[in-house]
Amino acid sequence: MRQSELLFKTQKTPPKDEVAVNAQLLIRANFVHKLMAGVYSYLPLGFRVREKVMKIIREEMNALGAAELLMPSLQPKSAWDASGRWESLQKIMYQFQDHSGRDVGLGVTHEEIVALLAQGIIDSYADLPKYVYQIQAKFRDEPRAKSGILRGREFTMKDMYSFHVDETSLNDFYEESKRAYVNVFERCGLKAYITEASGGDFSKSYSHEFMVETAAGEDETYLCRLCGFARNKEIADFKKGERCPSCTAGVLEKVKTVEVGNIFKLGTKYSEAANLNFKDKEGNLKPVVMGSYGIGVERLMGTVVEVHHDKKGIVWPEAVAPFNVHLLLLGEPNEDLQKFADGVYNELEKAGIETLFDDRKKVSAGEKFYDADLIGIPTRIVVSEKTMVQEKMEVKKRNGEESNLMKVKDFVQHTKK
Ligand code: ATP
Ligand code: MG
Repeated sequence: MRQSELLFKTQKTPPKDEVAVNAQLLIRANFVHKLMAGVYSYLPLGFRVREKVMKIIREEMNALGAAELLMPSLQPKSAWDASGRWESLQKIMYQFQDHSGRDVGLGVTHEEIVALLAQGIIDSYADLPKYVYQIQAKFRDEPRAKSGILRGREFTMKDMYSFHVDETSLNDFYEESKRAYVNVFERCGLKAYITEASGGDFSKSYSHEFMVETAAGEDETYLCRLCGFARNKEIADFKKGERCPSCTAGVLEKVKTVEVGNIFKLGTKYSEAANLNFKDKEGNLKPVVMGSYGIGVERLMGTVVEVHHDKKGIVWPEAVAPFNVHLLLLGEPNEDLQKFADGVYNELEKAGIETLFDDRKKVSAGEKFYDADLIGIPTRIVVSEKTMVQEKMEVKKRNGEESNLMKVKDFVQHTKK
């Protein structure tokens, strides 16, 4: 992609009302635009990162045997009556009447909706287990939306739901989902701790949160670095310096964390509310046992920024970077240099190396370097009059110091290995 063709302009200073590091950097680097607190547009660079995050999530959910579907955001009150959550979620759910006086709301989550639709499909034990997920917009009237894209009022969630004949089947899938979740976060460049948490609004039983350590976190977690044991402070009553109850060798630390994902054993609460039953082998009618599994797509993206940045800007991990290579053409190019740079760009693209080509005219070398550091694409390649005379280009990693002069052919070969 040619930078001159991108709807693009970096900013030296972020908006004054934006305090979160993730949003400051993402706004300055032109990945997102803030419309109001908790509501952002995703500009071309941000859009690409978001797509990559969703692709990783999709691959891991598909590998679990889950099938993707899509449910609506606009929902009638009647779907929420039986569970009692129309009332209990009043403060966080956008609820209103349409012009015909119907009570409707914007979905904060989809347990009720998915149970209703499964009710028309699942009849017998032979239909179970089943796993479905969607990647879909959620709306929540968050009282504090100060964490940039970590806490949106409109945001995208991957929410998966599982249906089982009994607890044993649920438990098996629940454990598998933990592994899939850790994979998702690892592939995005994050270490997530599987953290014991309360059932919250969803269930009386317990749940697990996937916590990433960062000062930007709104949660506090007791953590054992030795064995990875983690428990949310909300349900923990440890003292300072207490030994880890799991391995007994490590010492617990209280650290700030972001919850990037959350899994719940729902039991039969929502299936009973929606009359979602199945016939067992003996022909008895039983409520389906359910689980639900969420990941915040933009929260995940924002957490990557919180963890991977430096003074100059973002340092994207390769797997979620908007492009693999940022190609900078320096100096006002004569015909030869323009041809040389275009040639490099075409070679890279041909080799399937996603390249952002800073071909902007009348932009100084200093500005191009500044923008490249801010945007944070993993590899920076410079071509100029100086490198052209050697038929080479200067290659530097965003997270490294040294640069190498290389021929484009050698770079392509090296990268493809
Ligand atoms: P929190 O306690 O941070 O508000 P939650 O417990 O309300 O989160 P869930 O309802 O379990 O979150 O939602 C599943 C996932 O969706 C969360 O783990 C998080 O990654 C993401 N998420 C929740 N609320 C938001 C939000 N307002 N903005 C962005 N992502 C969110
Ligand atoms: Mg919440």
